[in-house]
Amino acid sequence: MQFDYDLFVIGAGSGGVRASRIAAGFGARVAVAEEFRVGGTCVIRGCVPKKLLVYASHFSDDFEMARGFGWSVGDVSFDWKTLIARKDAEIDRLNGLYIKTLDGAGVEIINGRATVTGPNSVEVDGREITAKTILVAVGGWPQMPDVPGIEHAISSNEALHLDEQPKRIVIVGGGYIAVEFAGIFRGMGSEVIQLYRSEQILRGFDDDLRDRLATEMRGKGIDLRTNTNVTKIEKSSTGVVLTLTDGSTLEADAVMYATGRTPKTEGLGLDAAGVELAKGGAVKVDAYGKTNVGSIYAVGDVTDRVQLTPVAIKEGHAFALTVFGGAPTSPAHDAVPSAVFSQPPIGTVGLTEEEAKAQYGEVEVYTSDFRPMKHTLGGSDERAFTKLIVDKTTDKVVGAHMIGADAAEIIQGVGIAVKAGLTKAQFDTTVAVHPSSAEEFVLMRTPRAS
Ligand code: NDP
Repeated sequence: MQFDYDLFVIGAGSGGVRASRIAAGFGARVAVAEEFRVGGTCVIRGCVPKKLLVYASHFSDDFEMARGFGWSVGDVSFDWKTLIARKDAEIDRLNGLYIKTLDGAGVEIINGRATVTGPNSVEVDGREITAKTILVAVGGWPQMPDVPGIEHAISSNEALHLDEQPKRIVIVGGGYIAVEFAGIFRGMGSEVIQLYRSEQILRGFDDDLRDRLATEMRGKGIDLRTNTNVTKIEKSSTGVVLTLTDGSTLEADAVMYATGRTPKTEGLGLDAAGVELAKGGAVKVDAYGKTNVGSIYAVGDVTDRVQLTPVAIKEGHAFALTVFGGAPTSPAHDAVPSAVFSQPPIGTVGLTEEEAKAQYGEVEVYTSDFRPMKHTLGGSDERAFTKLIVDKTTDKVVGAHMIGADAAEIIQGVGIAVKAGLTKAQFDTTVAVHPSSAEEFVLMRTPRAS
């Protein structure tokens, strides 16, 4: 049978764009449908705009520290509207670059919402299109829990486009997005209350980092309340009134939910093609991204494996190599480094102490707790902390964690060593870069008493 395209990709985000481009490079006739803007979550309403806001919010600390280094800083003020406009312009630029890249690769961009109508067919705005292979790369969407009045809450999507900076904001959740936005708004001078339903924020991260981040956030004036949730949201003349689980109420200009993201498969028509979904709507795939329907694949957040852009990109690339490059490639999901752009940031790769103990039994743990040099004159009492977890039998470093300035930059290099399976002895033979915070990773010598 003759198909309109060799590959039809639904969703021009990180995974979809990479897959399209690489498949086209192998000579495939490729179209990609996007209902919003080319670039997807990361570029348009995620990693990129978020990081720009993190940079912006850091200046309050930087101005403060500058005095300790002899600078006199005059009156400073911050204008939210200017930042948002400049951020939007940068996102427009990146969106343009993504479009150009796809054009340059010979990929046809179709603006519109595509739905799957069968194993080899999709529909876009009433037009039926056929393809030999379909790739579902539609990503995820903020999950808003079923709380009375939830329609008065915003998600990170809206937080990036508010007309005014909320002077008082409540953030619900204890994951990546919640701690990042709590830091952003606090740095810009907002009063921030963060509510988390369980014992400690950042479930899944190493416990030492979770505790330290909570302490540092409180130290910066974030009112972090654990074991607390919202039972009702009401609109008020100035914003919202929240009723909490203990019956108390809270007033704020805005409430933002960061309570996870769900795969965006609703109404996508995957059932029509017989594609199996997991509970929660994620597309079930094998190690190569193939669904139970041979002609349909999926990559990225829609598969709900590791919700990170670089992972989606690797999955998209592996898909294109597998299906169009004649080189079956299964993207690895082990030792994935990641960073939380909290303030201070976290960098992490490999297993937490708890996971390592469960997997290897006996482990050695090395830690270093220090005051970064910049803060000695800068006057901040923010501390940094590094941690290595070593399998005692093989001496392999199976986990590396850091909280402190530049943790994201530092962990990328350490991630190579952990991914390569290097031993603690090999870390120890590496010469330190001095003076730096990163050097702690090669200087820790005495294991912590178990
Ligand atoms: P996360 O899954 O990281 O965190 C969700 C948080 O919301 C958890 O603290 C969870 O609590 C809480 N929660 C879930 N349901 C409810 C509820 N009904 N009521 C109250 N609290 C609830 O999701 P995020 O939204 O923060 O981010 C989504 C994903 O995006 C991340 O997992 C990450 O993979 C990715 N991301 C990565 C970033 C990075 O790399 N820097 C930045 C931003 C996002 P509990 O722990 O009790 O389940």
